[in-house]
Amino acid sequence: MKKKRLLADILLIAGVLIAAAVVWLLLPRGGGGAAAVVTVNGEHYASLPLSEDAELLIRSDDGGENLLVISGGKARVTESNCPTGVCVETGAVSSEGQLIVCLPHKVVIEIVG
Ligand SMILES: [Zn+2]
Repeated sequence: MKKKRLLADILLIAGVLIAAAVVWLLLPRGGGGAAAVVTVNGEHYASLPLSEDAELLIRSDDGGENLLVISGGKARVTESNCPTGVCVETGAVSSEGQLIVCLPHKVVIEIVG
């Protein structure tokens, strides 16, 4: 009985380690450059490397739209139909830890290293 329990524990720990390794492999890391991680309503929406120019229309559940533009290694929201416009006024971000937040749409764009 006790032995079975131990085996189950080992399998569980091995499973957790494998899951952690997979997550680690999938995460953007230094060397590949920074990335803009988009979260909507607390849920992961997209990750875009700053090294590639791109545009992403972020749609939130309540009809909110934010246009995220990656250009020249910087991320910025160029258009939004939110009432405050703070996300657009924030301008371009490119340093690790910098944020663009759109409170009405519950959109958070964070730069990760
Ligand atoms: Zn906004």
